[in-house]
Amino acid sequence: MARIPTLEDLGDVSGKRVLLRTDFNVPLDGTTITDDFRIRAALPTIEWLIARDAEVVCASHLGRPKGKPTPEFSMAPVRARLAELAPGVELLENLRFDAGEEGNDADFTARLIEGFDLYVNDAFGASHRAHASIVGPPKVLPSAMGRLLQKEVDVLLGLRTNPKRPFVAVLGGAKISDKLGVVEALLDVVDALAIGGAMCFTFFAAQGKSIGDSLFEPDQVETCARLLDAGKTIHLPDDIVGVDANGTYATFGTWLPDGAKGLDIGPGSAAAFSDVIMDARTVFWNGPMGMFEDERFAAGTRTVAQAMADTKAFTVVGGGDVVAALGQFGLDDEVDHVSTGGGASLELIELGDLPGLEALRAAPNAPGEDPGREETGR
Ligand code: ADP
Ligand code: MG
Repeated sequence: MARIPTLEDLGDVSGKRVLLRTDFNVPLDGTTITDDFRIRAALPTIEWLIARDAEVVCASHLGRPKGKPTPEFSMAPVRARLAELAPGVELLENLRFDAGEEGNDADFTARLIEGFDLYVNDAFGASHRAHASIVGPPKVLPSAMGRLLQKEVDVLLGLRTNPKRPFVAVLGGAKISDKLGVVEALLDVVDALAIGGAMCFTFFAAQGKSIGDSLFEPDQVETCARLLDAGKTIHLPDDIVGVDANGTYATFGTWLPDGAKGLDIGPGSAAAFSDVIMDARTVFWNGPMGMFEDERFAAGTRTVAQAMADTKAFTVVGGGDVVAALGQFGLDDEVDHVSTGGGASLELIELGDLPGLEALRAAPNAPGEDPGREETGR
């Protein structure tokens, strides 16, 4: 497979106008940015380009404005923060204000790249989408992946190809059907899986257990049963915290009575998952262990987060909500890699490639076949 071009493959960037696709899809409270992690994450690439006298114009989506200008999704707050972090760098208006972005429209791409000499993709969190700003510019402009995208690809593909063992994946969260594909892909490479969050109840159902009113996906029960039979070690919780039929806080085993709802893994399970994490040499974590937004159900996620901070293993965390949880506990600096992409990190682990990476590999300046090297461009 051809190598993905890196910034070095752009040649001399001095005096060139560079379109930099970033993922500035930051959480907003009104017009206040509640976490600028994604803006700061683009700085290494911006600084690399600026230091070499390129003129940098960023472009990003923000929220889901559905193809038309929507004031609440204006890039203005992001532009203001960017001006503080990287003076002189421009930022275009929200790409999704035009339906051509998500529709991958060729005319939209042509208008977007007008006046630019080079294209850089540093929007890892959007690179699993075949949207215009991701796959269009590399068809025409000499292109490269930015430093953030490069690191994400190195780390996440590294998990697939040569993880230090034991390699353990800890999975939770609520989006079960979205995630079973990655569970399946991970089963091929991990030594063990630990499953909490709402995800565990579909596995419980597959084991014929009673799960009360807990969140589960009936049409995924069969898949879960198959995964349980795949011959890999899958750790499931053996105690659950939640509410009983009256909505009162309660602790259960793995057999939930009618009307009860499981909302967190219990303390015994959290300790057991921590032990697995402490004994591992590589850990990938996606999805919180419970409804951590409610302090009563945050303990499981907090315990696992602390183990991620304490273990000597190489630790990688991906997923919007689990990254938010880490931040809430003040532990985001304690893990080795916090992925800026939720869906993108799962898709890259599952499939080993993304539409945005394929597009870069086909760019006019892309280095040719290079079978002796990693596909990641190192
Ligand atoms: P991520 O963004 O990390 O990939 P998801 O989006 O799949 O994770 O899921 C995150 C959500 O899952 C959180 O809002 C959390 O409250 C919810 N959640 C976790 N465990 C449970 C549970 N047992 N019951 C209901 N919701 C849960
Ligand atoms: Mg989420």
